[in-house]
Order: sequence, then structure tokens, then C-alpha cells
Amino acid sequence: MQSDEQAPAEVSPGGALADQLGRPLRSLRLSVTDRCNLRCNYCMPEEDYVWLPRQELLTFEEIARLAEVFTSLGVTDVRLTGGEPLLRRDLPSLVRILAANSRIQDLALTTNGVLFSEQAEALRGAGLHRVTLSLDTLRPERFLALTGRESHAKVLEGIAAAGRAGFTKSKIDTVVIRGANDDELADLIEYGRSVQAEVRFIEYMDVGGATNWSLDKVFTRAEMLERLAKRYGSVTPFEQRTSAPAERFALPDGTVFGIIASTTTPFCKSCDRSRLTADGLWYLCLYAQSGVDMRKMLRAGVPTEELAERISSVWRGRADRGAELRAATGHRGVFIGIDQLRQDPHLEMHTRGG
Ligand code: SAM
Ligand code: SF4
Ligand code: SF4
Repeated sequence: MQSDEQAPAEVSPGGALADQLGRPLRSLRLSVTDRCNLRCNYCMPEEDYVWLPRQELLTFEEIARLAEVFTSLGVTDVRLTGGEPLLRRDLPSLVRILAANSRIQDLALTTNGVLFSEQAEALRGAGLHRVTLSLDTLRPERFLALTGRESHAKVLEGIAAAGRAGFTKSKIDTVVIRGANDDELADLIEYGRSVQAEVRFIEYMDVGGATNWSLDKVFTRAEMLERLAKRYGSVTPFEQRTSAPAERFALPDGTVFGIIASTTTPFCKSCDRSRLTADGLWYLCLYAQSGVDMRKMLRAGVPTEELAERISSVWRGRADRGAELRAATGHRGVFIGIDQLRQDPHLEMHTRGG
């Protein structure tokens, strides 16, 4: 990045609170649990982990209070995630509380889909706007190899349930790993079309939790485009990239899909997102090694104005661009080893919500 792009900025062009690189505080990923009912080998490859103690998880009231403060400072997009968010008991109640916050323009959920068919209607009724479902393969035997669980049919049921419950603009997120599922791109696009969901291919990232990661397993954006162009004839950029991480492309018949090229083409320059773990640590970057303890402040009775001041001052100081720095690393390997992960669950991808 050029040095003139790093001049301190406190207010973005839109007048919102902005960080050191002029990026607004707009999008918040709220992790509601670190537990999961799958063991995707790119995220949580071990059977056992050190879990966050349950009594330390934020209550729904605490999450809602923080959401009030964050939205008063410019956050408009809130995404519930995990771990697997549907494992958090009574999630529709949290959705109902958040849906009543009129500053939230986009209230979304990312789920592995296993439990979605059972909860889709309640979540829709509670006011959830959109859902993103993760699906890496259409083949049950590959699903088992990738996730360690036999829940493939349940995930497909979950995806079907989204449309039935009235969700539109659903997305399907696929992590593409060389030799594991890189031959399924077109099949997944066709499947997405059949269920009216836009598919987004994500490059395999070397985030905490990805302890099996190696550069040669990254199937790159360029390779994805080449493979799809061979199959479909032409692939054209669909619209300019915004602060959303996905670049969108169109096939000759108008079908649109996305690529999130976090590993080879990081989008840190426009990153407006931060993350709150289920126990209330606020992280400014997926690669950050420490976060701000919001739960401690909440439970110490810190008044709302002080919480807002703290969040503002931390955001103003933000200069994180973890994926860009990782991309600049020579001889890139696993970011955080299993021993270090075992000592601190906050370093895991599943704790900070992907
Ligand atoms: N359990 C939910 C799910 O899988 O959708 C929500 C949490 S999960 C951590 C959020 C997203 O992170 C998923 O779409 C998952 O595929 C993605 N993810 C996890 N590990 C990844 C990695 N190493 N590289 C790229 N994406 C990853
Ligand atoms: Fe897979 Fe999501 Fe669970 Fe990670 S949190 S193991 S990506 S289902
Ligand atoms: Fe944002 Fe950090 Fe991801 Fe870059 S690496 S896009 S700064 S979360």
C-alpha cells in the first residue's frame, strides 16, 4: 500500500466514523457460540478443542446492548455466525431483539445448514433478512471427508427450506480446496441456480484453525475463472467491487456467482468489518491476535456513552490489514499452530465467526 493512502482519517467520505485507512465502521459479525456440529477440516480439524466457558458467553440482552452502541456509531450490517449459530438455544429470540433495532439495514445469518430446516420459519418470522448457507460439495462421501459428519442430506434440506420459508437473496458459500472439490464449481453453480441462491467461491485461507493449510491447496480466483470459462465459454465481471468481499461475475446465460479471493487478492483496503466473539471480545481483523474485552466493560457497569467512546477511539486507531500482510509473506505456511490454538480458543476461526 502507498504511504499516502495511510494518512490518519477520522471521518470517511460519508461522514461516518473511520479508521486509519479511512474505512468506516459498518459491518459487525456477531458470533453467538464457538461450538459446532461439523468438523470441517479447513476450520476445525480436531475432534476436541478448548471451548469458551458457557458462563462467559454474552447473554442476548448483552449482545443487543452492544449492537445498540455499535449501530449508534455507524454499523448497519449485522451477521450472526459462530461456530454454528443454530446451536445457540433460542436464536430466534435474539433475531427478534435485533430486528427491532431500526438502524440495522441488513440482518443476516451464516450457517452450515444442518439445523436450518428446523429453524428457518421461526427465524424468518423473527425478522431475519437473509441467510448464507455453507456447502462445499454435492457429494455425500466428500462431505463426510471434509466435515467428518454424515449430515449432507440435512444441509440440502436446510437449503431447500430457505426458499420455502420465504428467504430471498440467499447465498451458498463454498471453500474451494485443490484436490478436494475444485472439480465441482460448475455443478455447484447449477445447483445454486436450481435453488435460487447465488454461489460464492472462497479461496482457502490460512486463518487460525486452518492447521492443514498449505499454499498448494489454494485453488485461486484465476484458476476458478479459467475453469469456468472453459466450461461456459465466457465469464464477465458483473459489477464493480464494493466493500462486500465478493467480486461478482456473470455467465453467458446471466447466472451470477461470486469469488472471495481473500488469499490471493485481499480486500483489506475496503474492509469495514469487525467481529465480536460469543464471549464479548471485539476483534478488528480476522487475523488479529488480540481483541477488546467488551464483556468486562458491560459487566462492570460502564455507561453506554463510555462504551461508545471506547469503540470509537479503538476504531479510529485501526490499521489492520491482516490478509494483505499475509499475502506479502514469503514461504507462507500455517498461520497459527495447533499447540498455540489449544491454549487460546480466541485464536480459532470458529470462535471469531469466519
Ligand atoms: N458454521 C457456520 C458455517 O460454516 O457457515 C458459520 C461459521 S464459519 C467459521 C463461517 C465461514 O467461514 C464458512 O462459510 C466457512 O466455510 C468459512 N471458513 C472457515 N474456515 C475457512 C478457511 N480456512 N478458509 C476460508 N473460509 C473458511
Ligand atoms: Fe465448518 Fe462452520 Fe463449523 Fe467451521 S464453524 S467447522 S466452517 S461448520
Ligand atoms: Fe478485513 Fe482483516 Fe480480512 Fe483484511 S484480513 S479483509 S482487514 S478482516
